[in-house]
Amino acid sequence: MTDPAATAASLPPLRTGTTPACKVCGGATRLFGAKDFNRSCEDGNGLRLPPRGVMVDYHRCGRCGLIFTDAFDDWTAEDFATHVYGDGYAQVDPQFEAVRPVNMAAFVIEYFAHARDWRILDYGGGNGRFAEELRRAGFTDVTTYDRFNAPFQTRPDGRFNLVTCFETLEHMPDPQGGAADIADLVTRKGVILTATLIQPRDIEQIGVEWWYIGPRNGHVSLHTRASMRAMWARQKLQFLSYSDNVHLAGREPPAMLGRARPVG
Ligand SMILES: [Zn+2]
Repeated sequence: MTDPAATAASLPPLRTGTTPACKVCGGATRLFGAKDFNRSCEDGNGLRLPPRGVMVDYHRCGRCGLIFTDAFDDWTAEDFATHVYGDGYAQVDPQFEAVRPVNMAAFVIEYFAHARDWRILDYGGGNGRFAEELRRAGFTDVTTYDRFNAPFQTRPDGRFNLVTCFETLEHMPDPQGGAADIADLVTRKGVILTATLIQPRDIEQIGVEWWYIGPRNGHVSLHTRASMRAMWARQKLQFLSYSDNVHLAGREPPAMLGRARPVG
């Protein structure tokens, strides 16, 4: 495995010193703070990568509360593949390979038990493990799409009854573009089931020390419920938050979405 710190000199340029408008709602923002590129979500779990010596600015929207960085906005998908999602990634996101997909699959298998014949898409589905788990549980039509994982890079055709999108929204440097792409993949009565951790209530006190602000993980867009609601509203989708991590969206009114909502 390549030491993530070893390629420090080769990082593509990062934007800094900017005052961007909010990427979700267009509201005014202020500089929230900055973290070294090598700060990962595993810092609190004993993994401390040596500093890369390059700071990543995070901004916060005064209107919807989105925390985001525009530092990577000049990067190509290839840059991300090389410097974020390459060899060192498993080290900074140890649950990516199996723990998270298996847990999320268990959740969907239980609460969407009625959806075994639905056309399901796992958007940002990594190594395809989530889809495998669902198939094993009798779900008949499950597709994985992930721009950064070779077997799954082709965007699928058509629309899906259920689009799952776990730990992906926070990786989107263009949240509205991503939301539009997802909205385009769900049927008129379909449901989007996302998992992304929303900011804690005391985020202003915690600041950029919040563990989820991990540039090395590619965490570039950190949501509030208001920012997610605004993001989906721009796609003419309703939004329903189930917990601090699990959220639904779709064209149906929230009460109808609520019916698709996990009931247990
Ligand atoms: Zn905003």
